[in-house]
Amino acid sequence: MTTADLDARPRTAGAFSPEDARRDVPVLHRTVNGRPLVWLDNGATTQKPRQVIEALAAYYAGANSNIHRGAHTMAREATEAYEAGRAAVARFLGAPSPETVCFVRGTTEAINLVAQSWGRANLGPGDEILVGALEHHSNIVPWQLVARETRARLVPVPLLADGSIDRRAFEGLLSYRTRLVAISHASNTLGTVPPVREMTALAHRYGARVLVDGAQAVAHFPVDVGELDADFYAFSGHKLYGPTGIGALYGKPEVLAAMPPWQGGGNMIEQVDFTGSSYAPVPHCFEAGTGNIAGVVGLHAAIDWLTSFGRAEVAAYEESLLEYAQQALASVPGLEVLGSAPGKIAVLTFTLAGSDPGEVAQWLDRDGIAIRAGHHCAQPSLRHYGLDSAARASLALYNTPEEVDRLTDSLLRLRRSAG
Ligand code: PMP
Repeated sequence: MTTADLDARPRTAGAFSPEDARRDVPVLHRTVNGRPLVWLDNGATTQKPRQVIEALAAYYAGANSNIHRGAHTMAREATEAYEAGRAAVARFLGAPSPETVCFVRGTTEAINLVAQSWGRANLGPGDEILVGALEHHSNIVPWQLVARETRARLVPVPLLADGSIDRRAFEGLLSYRTRLVAISHASNTLGTVPPVREMTALAHRYGARVLVDGAQAVAHFPVDVGELDADFYAFSGHKLYGPTGIGALYGKPEVLAAMPPWQGGGNMIEQVDFTGSSYAPVPHCFEAGTGNIAGVVGLHAAIDWLTSFGRAEVAAYEESLLEYAQQALASVPGLEVLGSAPGKIAVLTFTLAGSDPGEVAQWLDRDGIAIRAGHHCAQPSLRHYGLDSAARASLALYNTPEEVDRLTDSLLRLRRSAG
């Protein structure tokens, strides 16, 4: 079978066509090694639409100022733009108010903020932090650091063979010692979408807090933190078609209000005196120093861009593209995809018999196809399959079946050349 034989090519789904998105993203129209670029490294970072690039340029060209201080017009304008970005993130996440959103550098910083502020204040000897075995290192190592300091314990939540969470094991691990559950809303290696709402409800029965790592989720499907009832939700702008260096942490108002500041400095204080200082209200007390103002403007543009397409249509398109890619890759002898949990996002981590993942990535790069190879900063999830390294193609709304065909054809040629 060749990929051309496959039926049900997902060209459009409902009102959404990937061409609508491609038109806006300039870098997708470049060549790499003499071939039109096929960007399948969206799990690492997404490409940016001109709306985001133009918003950044317009901010610096016409509106740059520091915020929350200075009695001048441009400071006021920059402050308004920054706070409009906060309101946009709150709407995007279904958060009850902009004050529940703190700007951070990205998911990693958001989780470190919670670990260092909430964690140090709330964890003690014998307390347990339940962490999914599929977590990214940024949802493991910050907890290890604070656990060492507080003598709390990290407990991995095991996976089933298909890469889904072992729900029964999770229920069995929960106890009144559980203080926090740290879980991804979508895995960057296996694509698994854990049953976060159900897990949160179970964790809350024991009084545990739940932090959801939404880094891989927000670009793929709509999120409603109210419906999830999550205590914390973190994501990065750059995986959402926005700039690098900006992300957000949502926290329930009563949880954020009880947390001590994490970093000290300008912007996060009310009064400073050598006898002591008082702090600005939430969320400003978690935003010490000059923030990434342009980043917020770019993130706002990215949210507007993504939500200008019907989210449900985009999710349906990505689902059909994943199905198409799974069928296409099944035609490559010796290729095995890791993770087949129902409802997974469009992430295809795979091994190819006889080829090292690094060689696979290099071979594809010669054909202008960008994928990732390595441990993907989620080593425990690969060890679940007895692996240290794998190749990963991660799809986005602007990827097309033709691009999947190019991936498959190139892999078939690699197989043939390897004999
Ligand atoms: N969590 C997950 C699931 C991720 O995929 C990533 C990025 N690969 C992160 C966290 C970390 O995101 P960032 O590097 O933007 O902080």
